[in-house]
Amino acid sequence: MELPYAEPYKIKMIEHIKRSTKNQRLKWIKKAHYNLFNLASENVFIDLLTDSGTGAMSDRQWAEMMVGDESYAGSSSFKKLKKTVRKITGFKYFLPTHQGRAAENVLFSAMVKEGDVVPGNSHFDTTKGHIEFRKASAIDCTIDEAFDTSNMHPFKGNIDINKLEVVFKKYPKERIPFVILTITCNSAGGQPVSIKNISEVSKLCKQYDIPLYFDAARFSENAYFIKKREVGYENKTIKEIVKEVFSYGDGMTMSAKKDGLVNMGGFIALNNKKVYKEATVFNIMFEGFITYGGMNGRDMGALAVGLEESTEFNYLESRVEQIAYLGEKLVEYGVPVQQPFGGHAIFLDANKFVPTIPREEFRAQALALELYVVGGIRGVEIGTILADRDPITRENRYPELELVRLAVPRRTYTNNHMDYVAATLKMIYNTREEAKSGYKIINEAPIMRHFTIEFDKI
Ligand SMILES: *Cc1c(COP(=O)(O)O)cnc(C)c1O
Repeated sequence: MELPYAEPYKIKMIEHIKRSTKNQRLKWIKKAHYNLFNLASENVFIDLLTDSGTGAMSDRQWAEMMVGDESYAGSSSFKKLKKTVRKITGFKYFLPTHQGRAAENVLFSAMVKEGDVVPGNSHFDTTKGHIEFRKASAIDCTIDEAFDTSNMHPFKGNIDINKLEVVFKKYPKERIPFVILTITCNSAGGQPVSIKNISEVSKLCKQYDIPLYFDAARFSENAYFIKKREVGYENKTIKEIVKEVFSYGDGMTMSAKKDGLVNMGGFIALNNKKVYKEATVFNIMFEGFITYGGMNGRDMGALAVGLEESTEFNYLESRVEQIAYLGEKLVEYGVPVQQPFGGHAIFLDANKFVPTIPREEFRAQALALELYVVGGIRGVEIGTILADRDPITRENRYPELELVRLAVPRRTYTNNHMDYVAATLKMIYNTREEAKSGYKIINEAPIMRHFTIEFDKI
């Protein structure tokens, strides 16, 4: 018999959370115009809105907060972080930014121009936003298997090499500034990309002389899946796998709020000196001097420790297996979820869960709202609302998948909390046929509308 996994840490400090009644929640969500982003967090019992910046830091990270060097230029905390980024990623140059989208803003300012195309695997919303904001387009080359929520493909974040080559053949290379490979692929459901696929994408990119960049927010979780699922990697350490993955690319943008295990932060790391020099100008303009880039010294120190901790197997095992624990409970209850389970979240398949609600009435949003009303649990819609309107026709873009994401913060909730979430969903699932109508939009922003959108109940 093998011993089960267990968290390689114990709890030193707790944060109080409050239970509320269904009537209270009905009142609060109406006041929030049925947008879960508008809720006061104190009115949420279990917050699975995002795993971004919501994790718990370790005692070692907090110790770094005390020795942070807040000098404007050349701080020792910057040096610490730079050294760690170099050690873990292997990339030569490094620029701190205040979070992931800031890294995108800085790098894309240097690389993306009007009329460009940027192929990738289901670009994250801020990534797509920063591409489209520059009047360029994101082209999704994810494998078809990713869009079937019951397909058990082990690496559903993979890029379809043929789709990618079609793009390379269709456009001159001057119009393809880079390929962006998101690991794990957030928008496809926290699904990993295999090292085989990464090396094939890299090879094709080299053949067509197009740089390859990683959107690396969850690079550690991706490495865990490679270790668990890919032949030849079972005996490699996470740090070895991470190093190999990055060796196939030219650079990365990072949201440190994910696998950096900090609450705020990001960076760019890359090998090309010319691009680094150009990005430096935008970093100073948008973020701050190059040795802090919008981050406090203490936060850079905590991030350096976080990167070391997130690339440890025992941590990753307890992290990713907690997600699977929730997923397996839901499967046991018959609740339709995307499989295999992602690394940071469980995705409810709203097309299968509430097909009785018309697509035009935003069924995934309706399901996310029901989860809050019934259990005080906050998830997020990953469907039509998130997909935004077509930039040209301004019509709603209906994606193949209508999902509700339950993102689990790192080192924050126990498996008892996961049991509570599963039980709430079971209750909703048992009465799902009563759900007939959804919501209509009364207010929305032209881009990245999901954050501020307002609805009325139909
Ligand atoms: C979170 C995230 C980003 C953006 O990072 P922020 O820190 O939220 O600005 C970009 N790409 C992916 C894949 C992400 O998950």
